[in-house]
Amino acid sequence: MGEKKKKIIKTIKIDVDKCNGCRACEMICSAFHAAPRYSSNNPERSRIRVIHDPLRDIYFPVYAGEYTAAECMGRDRYVINGKEYDECALCRAACPSRGLFKEPDSGLPLKCDMCEDDPPQEEPLCVKWCLNDALIYEEREEEVEEEEVKLDEMEIGLEELANKYGLQKVTEAISRMSKKGEV
Ligand code: SF4
Ligand code: SF4
Repeated sequence: MGEKKKKIIKTIKIDVDKCNGCRACEMICSAFHAAPRYSSNNPERSRIRVIHDPLRDIYFPVYAGEYTAAECMGRDRYVINGKEYDECALCRAACPSRGLFKEPDSGLPLKCDMCEDDPPQEEPLCVKWCLNDALIYEEREEEVEEEEVKLDEMEIGLEELANKYGLQKVTEAISRMSKKGEV
């Protein structure tokens, strides 16, 4: 058993009934993550996407979760209040079977980082900009085992590039860029 330590667990509660599909959350998320910050907005770059089912007239905010190199073998089909959703529609993974949660230019996976910032934001920006209170931010403290080192966003991107082109090519490219003074 590893050491115990305190950890702040951050959650965003999603009240689907209050979401009217305004997409302010997508706009602010993509603008916050633009480089330079707030220089552009494009929902394709957002770490939250609002799934709309026109036949059932419902909007469903879904957050970008973990990157997965292979699509899963099974499929989930949700039925909520008698409404059946398409396979994969509510899944959070950036996965090879669909275009959701991928940077449109590079194809690299996107993941919600809770608007990590220095100094920290008071609350995630999608929550702040959701004027319908469909997104509610909550924090709680929990005792957890010492964590293994988690991959950060950059490492996830590098892993994806290595899967696509091979580690050797990625290493060579970084070495070339470094010689040219690009990195
Ligand atoms: S900002 Fe709120 S109401 Fe608007 S789409 Fe996003 S979750 Fe829904
Ligand atoms: S918490 Fe921040 S990074 Fe995550 S979806 Fe909301 S705005 Fe984007």
